[in-house]
Amino acid sequence: MSRSLRIDFDTLPYWEGCRQKKLLILRCLACGFWIHPPLSVCSSCWSEKIKPQEVSGKASIYSFTTTKQREPASSFVTVWAELREQERLIVIGQLIGTDPAAIKIGDPLFLDWLSHEDHFVPAFGKARG
Ligand SMILES: [Zn+2]
Repeated sequence: MSRSLRIDFDTLPYWEGCRQKKLLILRCLACGFWIHPPLSVCSSCWSEKIKPQEVSGKASIYSFTTTKQREPASSFVTVWAELREQERLIVIGQLIGTDPAAIKIGDPLFLDWLSHEDHFVPAFGKARG
C-alpha cells in the first residue's frame, strides 16, 4: 500500500466514483480478481480487461493506526479496511463516529464518506454485529 492514489489514468474511475459517494474498485473481467490500488492490468492474470465496479462497502478492520496531535489536542484513527469482496482487498480511510478505544482487528465496518474539497473520501464506521 505504498503507492498513493494520485489522479492519473488508472485511478480516475476511483476518484470519479468518490465524487458520487460510490466506492468503485477495478475488477478483472477475465478472472474476477479485484485490483486496488488501481493498475492498468490484472495483478492476478495480467489481463487488460478490467472495469470499475461498485463494491458493497462491507469490510472489516485489517489494521489501524491512531494519530494523536498536541494542538489542537485531538486524535483520529486510520483504518485499513479489508473489503468483504476479496481477501487483502484494502481501502484506507478514517474511522468516524466510533470510539477508538472500542475497536479491534477484525471488527466489522460499514462504508461512510467524508467531504474533502470538491469530492468525498471513503471513511468507515464500526458496524454492529
Ligand atoms: Zn485477472
